[in-house]
Amino acid sequence: MAEETIFSKIIRREIPADILYQDDLVTAFRDINAKAPTHILIIPNHLIPTTNDVKASDEKALGRMVTVAAKLAEEAGIAEDGYRIIMNCNKHGGQEVFHIHMHLLGGCSLGPMLSINS
Ligand code: 5GP
Repeated sequence: MAEETIFSKIIRREIPADILYQDDLVTAFRDINAKAPTHILIIPNHLIPTTNDVKASDEKALGRMVTVAAKLAEEAGIAEDGYRIIMNCNKHGGQEVFHIHMHLLGGCSLGPMLSINS
């Protein structure tokens, strides 16, 4: 069985986080180390370690992640200018927390999509 991460504790409100949205399927909270003026993480409430582990039965939660991202972008005032949604997977994707999460980044021009240094 997959091991829980700190994100499960955030979902259960066992540790503090700036939670912006929560329902039966997903939770959204501010990233503790923001990389842009708006940096929100949107996660499914049930543990899926990586996008490699996504099943058809997860589609409802993953769809909800996108609709919640759009709602939070609107609320943050970044919808019109635009934003970026990122999901990192495993080593080459730079994934650090093994509970899938969508990064919602915006509030400034984010530059080119990728900058590969090595
Ligand atoms: P990854 O590199 O796995 O795609 O991104 C993990 C993200 O989770 C990072 O941006 C990191 O700052 C954020 N993060 C890690 N631990 C915590 C935490 O305890 N609270 C919050 N709010 N964000 C966290």
